[in-house]
Amino acid sequence: MIVGPDIGRATQRGHTAFERDSAGLWLILADPWDWGAGGGVATKEDEVGRCIYCGSTDDLTDEHIIPYGLGSTWVLRKASCRKCATITGRFEGEVLRPMLGELRAALGMKTRRRSERPTTSRLLLETNGLLQAVSMPVKDCVQVLPLPVFPPPGYSEGRSLDEKLRVQQIELNTVRASKSKALGKDRGADAIRRPFSCRSFAFAQLICKIAHAAAVDLCGLDSFGQFYLLQTLLEADDHVGFFVGSGRLASQPATGDHSVGVYSNEGGFVVAQVDLFLPIAGTSYLALVGRLRKPKERQGEVKR
Ligand SMILES: [Zn+2]
Repeated sequence: MIVGPDIGRATQRGHTAFERDSAGLWLILADPWDWGAGGGVATKEDEVGRCIYCGSTDDLTDEHIIPYGLGSTWVLRKASCRKCATITGRFEGEVLRPMLGELRAALGMKTRRRSERPTTSRLLLETNGLLQAVSMPVKDCVQVLPLPVFPPPGYSEGRSLDEKLRVQQIELNTVRASKSKALGKDRGADAIRRPFSCRSFAFAQLICKIAHAAAVDLCGLDSFGQFYLLQTLLEADDHVGFFVGSGRLASQPATGDHSVGVYSNEGGFVVAQVDLFLPIAGTSYLALVGRLRKPKERQGEVKR
């Protein structure tokens, strides 16, 4: 699918329909967040005042729930210590730069490292079985959004806790292909190949981070009796496939760039659905964030 000009612009999000899930009845705790103009602006009273990953109260920084580099201004104030920010910054950087750097540059998404921003992309033109490498400006070149497709999270299918992350396939979404096609035609190429890099484990960790931080913002840090994603986030443990996977509790919103919906069932378990690059991508992710001390009162219901 070719992306429209809207990516990078914040818009209202909303759910219109819901789908079945095998994890029981899920109640809507919060609709997907709108971080458009005026939305998501935290005041001093909204400061978390504690690291949402390790609990430290020292040297706290603001935490972007969806990375700044993906165009988001949804922030938790004073919510990550420097040590945890270094850890989360590592996998975030792996996703934002080697995996999505050229795509982000082509779409004009934000960056804090302007000098490192790629300006060209590499294409391989195939002619009579021979490959020739050519460079094009990132804005003219076909860009790829490679998204790992995982099995549904292990918890939703009763699979083992000790489950490493498996990648079933890579969903390849292409953006802005026309000038690349024209170049291939001009050069008489039989096919165009576009190298890409998919950092699946780092990406799964990023989904964990977004899910955890969004649930903390929408439910409150103290509402949780247990958190399940912290080891995966901080130590890259082997249980990630149990807690995180591809899947959907609710339909993807029809508009907007990214969306996070947070849901809870009557047992107090909290699941976040993360949809990134909505105008381009078709894959949604689910992460079992934790368990509330007291199940929330229902605000809505996922229809069965
Ligand atoms: Zn910390």
